[in-house]
Amino acid sequence: MRIIDFNRPAVAGNETRYITDVIESRRLSGNGDFTRKCHAWFEERLACKRALLTPSCTDALEMASILTDIGPGDEVIMPSYTFVSTANAFVLRGAKIVFVDIRPDTMNIDETLIENALTDKTRAIVPVHYAGVGCEMETILRIASENGLYVVEDAAQGMMATYRGRPLGTLGHLGTYSFHETKNYTSGGEGGLLIVNDQRFSERAEIIREKGTDRSLFLRGMVDKYTWVDKGSSFLPGELSAAYLYAQLEKAEEILEKRMRLWRIYRHSLSSLRDKGWIELPHIPAECNHNAHMFYIKTDSSKTRSRLIRHLRNRGIEAVFHYIPLHSSKAGQRFGRFSGEDRFTTRESERLLRLPLFYDLSEDGVERVCDEIKDFYVRNR
Ligand SMILES: *Cc1c(COP(=O)(O)O)cnc(C)c1O
Repeated sequence: MRIIDFNRPAVAGNETRYITDVIESRRLSGNGDFTRKCHAWFEERLACKRALLTPSCTDALEMASILTDIGPGDEVIMPSYTFVSTANAFVLRGAKIVFVDIRPDTMNIDETLIENALTDKTRAIVPVHYAGVGCEMETILRIASENGLYVVEDAAQGMMATYRGRPLGTLGHLGTYSFHETKNYTSGGEGGLLIVNDQRFSERAEIIREKGTDRSLFLRGMVDKYTWVDKGSSFLPGELSAAYLYAQLEKAEEILEKRMRLWRIYRHSLSSLRDKGWIELPHIPAECNHNAHMFYIKTDSSKTRSRLIRHLRNRGIEAVFHYIPLHSSKAGQRFGRFSGEDRFTTRESERLLRLPLFYDLSEDGVERVCDEIKDFYVRNR
């Protein structure tokens, strides 16, 4: 039986060559040639003020929370249906997390509930673009500007996706990408990007990333020695990561197109089950161009989901569920509170099932997954 994994990281072609180049250059530490090439690629494509590689998206989020000077007593609004790092980054600075319910159609924060969650302690909104499908940013940006709040986009899953034609991660003051091996593009296992859209943060972002020193300015010849000027940490990855990532950036379009093709096969092939009312399929709002980060279905209940996972596993197919809502976790209860009613976060998360989707997956592989899902529903009718 041929096994279909849930994920396999993409290999675009030049990774080995570029990594060898770095090893032979004897320049392994951060901010070398490949890091500069990656920065230039992102700054041009995203038209942002600064794009800075980080060792992870988690680190980029932590940089964002330092940059926005979030501290004890402050509140940060985000969905509960997200990865722990979205919350941890702000909890580490002493903030309280205020969770807002999601929209069942996109699994993104319900923008119509944000105003109700505001208090005089609210400092920032952190929209998470689930599955690379943009949140309703027009409303979120309006609420933020009317209330003097920062917007930090967790676009970990959102590279190459847009909202009203603008790349995800470039709409808020700050944005973050992840290059973990489960994302569409990887820097060799772990990696991330901080996107600086508000010029006020540009210089300080470089300082925080370089242990609180002005080393970046020094290297560009803008100061004649470098010293400790602010708080900071070590948020720069080594050159090997950047070399791996650069090979993927060269093939960014091909990787996107292949994933989109597979995503469309899933949707087309599974639409018959949706038409019968047995499953639900992802919804992409008209404002959004997504990036095929994920293909998920929703079953009628968590019980059906468990049975379907087992059915697929018995046939060599790995399908997985996703986040356990943060507000229901031990740390989530300690560091956060849920604003209003949990109408959809728990219910929808318990029904969602992610199907295999990666660059190397064949169209036949997708068809086989769909056939096995159909087989499950025919047997269980
Ligand atoms: C993957 C992910 C992260 C964390 O990314 P790392 O690069 O692994 O730190 C954060 N938020 C979301 C929404 C993610 O999907």
